[in-house]
Amino acid sequence: MNPWLLTYDGCDPADEGLREALTTLGNGYFATRGAVPETRADGVRYPGTYVAGCYDRLVSQVAGRPVENEDLVNVPNWLPLTFRADGGDWFAPGNAEVLDCRHTLDMRQGILTRLLRIRDSGGRITRLEQHRLVSMDDPHLAALTMTVVPENWSGLLEIRSELDGRVTNSGVARYRGLADRHLVPVSAHAAGEVIELLTRTATSRVEIAIAARTALTGGRCRTGVEEDRVTDDRAIEVAAGDEVLVEKIVALYTSRDRAIAESAAAARAAVVRAGCFHDLLRRHVRAWERLWSRAHVVAEDSEVQRILNLYVFHLLQTASPHVTELDAGLPARGLHGEAYRGHVFWDDLFVFPFLAPRFPEVTRALLRYRWRRLPEARWAARAAGYTGAMFPWQSGGDGREETPRLHFNPRSGHWPPDNSRLQRHVGLAVAHNVWQHYEATKDSSFLAGFGGELLLEIARFFASLTTREGERYVIRGVMGPDEYHDGYPGRTEPGLDNNAYTNVMTAWLMRRVLDMIGLVGAEGMSAEEIDRFTGMAGRMRVDFHDGVISQFEGYAELEELDWAAYRRRYGDIRRLDRILEAEGDSPNRYKASKQADVLMLFHLLGEKGLGEIMTDLGYGWNTETAVRTVDYYLARTCHGSTLSAVVHAGVLAHVRPGASQPFLVEALNSDVKDLQGGTTAEGVHLGAMAGVAGLFKRSAVTAGDVTR
Ligand code: BGC
Repeated sequence: MNPWLLTYDGCDPADEGLREALTTLGNGYFATRGAVPETRADGVRYPGTYVAGCYDRLVSQVAGRPVENEDLVNVPNWLPLTFRADGGDWFAPGNAEVLDCRHTLDMRQGILTRLLRIRDSGGRITRLEQHRLVSMDDPHLAALTMTVVPENWSGLLEIRSELDGRVTNSGVARYRGLADRHLVPVSAHAAGEVIELLTRTATSRVEIAIAARTALTGGRCRTGVEEDRVTDDRAIEVAAGDEVLVEKIVALYTSRDRAIAESAAAARAAVVRAGCFHDLLRRHVRAWERLWSRAHVVAEDSEVQRILNLYVFHLLQTASPHVTELDAGLPARGLHGEAYRGHVFWDDLFVFPFLAPRFPEVTRALLRYRWRRLPEARWAARAAGYTGAMFPWQSGGDGREETPRLHFNPRSGHWPPDNSRLQRHVGLAVAHNVWQHYEATKDSSFLAGFGGELLLEIARFFASLTTREGERYVIRGVMGPDEYHDGYPGRTEPGLDNNAYTNVMTAWLMRRVLDMIGLVGAEGMSAEEIDRFTGMAGRMRVDFHDGVISQFEGYAELEELDWAAYRRRYGDIRRLDRILEAEGDSPNRYKASKQADVLMLFHLLGEKGLGEIMTDLGYGWNTETAVRTVDYYLARTCHGSTLSAVVHAGVLAHVRPGASQPFLVEALNSDVKDLQGGTTAEGVHLGAMAGVAGLFKRSAVTAGDVTR
């Protein structure tokens, strides 16, 4: 088994979305799902191309109310390339019998290959071989080649190459019915070998220019131009057994790019100058070689190795060194699909430990995305009555809070409130990322500059969020990483008090700010402020019950869930929130968590680091408390997020080595086998991917057999 190849034999419509997501090709600037090139979105197949940082807002009606959403825009489809044999139908899904079909993703080289043999309704058998790349060398270029071999027929072979602007953001079934038309056609042209399509986003008014140059040896050419699509048709006489090679080279620019006069002219010039597929390929493969020399993670088992290669591959396709030229954060689901609308959450927390030591220029760029949004975060803090900078739980274009107010439950058809914006701990994740980057680089100018500014402004926010009650500092009305608890039963105001994760990480943050003062001084800070930081570092409140850390104040009073009964009744109970809501109940009543919450402290700080902080906070701490706490939440977590398995695998490897294996297997399989049943097709889970790759770096875990 070659650990660099991911192969799909046959074409099962049920797996097509997953295959498309996992064979996405990208370079950090843009990415294109592995959709077949002869299709439009049709319910099975979903061509999607996403440009990092290219968002657009639209207003929809939800439950009778106007709701504004910002999406990572699905830009025009550059892939379309098809053929017809001797006046038959244009080849499209469903109109020919598929005799053989194989897709192979070469992760070492970043190439997607498709081999296909089809028989049309006239009995004509045609063999196709396609190769695709999205250049890691020049982030504006992509290319697709197709070799057509008529096996048993002769006559006219027609090729159609197209740029299709009729796409919408309709990749996630749950969002259908919401406004999805982000593209406005601007112009379409055909001149010589080049076709061009210019569109702009509806409200953010970003121009997206795509130019394509299609080359076919010999043959006649005819172009067709409509408002939102442009085609380039070629025709050539062929005899059975001939091999006809078609090359489509594509350039993509937007008006957000630098060093251009105007996006359409830039795309046109780039596609004309790009050279042939082989030139592009050579440079692309060399660029990938350079990345792999910095990023390769080694596992003993070859299947595990293949999965790690796949996950690192997708991480690098989203967070490649090309992001250093962009203003883009890390979308939780990559540039691979439309889940969570391409928003940036706290998931980069799971990516930084992997990326910072290997690609510090990338982690720096991702932190610049946050830093440029400091004014917005400061404004959000002021508007909510705080100081410092309050980063949003979901972030997109300008850094305002993008978390929806309502969340659709497909199980009940209801739109219950979504309070997840109360996950103020996202700021702690940004601060942790700042520190990870500093640890990896030891760059004190970063701490003296924008890294320190981020850390200090976040610390100021947490200082103002915290109140003093007696001897302790407390934080009320927030949510922890476990999104199933967003309030107390019977209390109308959402939010929880003294979430242990938030409070302990706040103490951690204050310690780091004090470290920073030791390293680069306290410019701009007042003595009272430093006193406050020092007080919080040593006196944050943490609740306990039954000899374990309480996830939040009052957790002990919640009811136990009858886990066995729910598992019996529903089988998969990962989305316990939806199950309970559909039953007219709520997870807020139960000791049942979506994902690691208290255990995140072990994940980020290690048992020793957590012990040190707990001791400094004046709480008794020993290994028994640690093990009891881990066991307690292990029994009360349903792993509704892919992040949960990663955290459990890592934490258990240290605290309860015997119990780690199933979580490691789950974390490894989560995207490649789509363990959440349909979510990977909507975008990969970059936090889980990077998190699992990081486990191999960090601990001596071995995976054994990952097949279940
Ligand atoms: C998880 C969050 C995560 C988000 C995006 C949610 O399901 O609960 O922790 O940030 O997905 O990946």
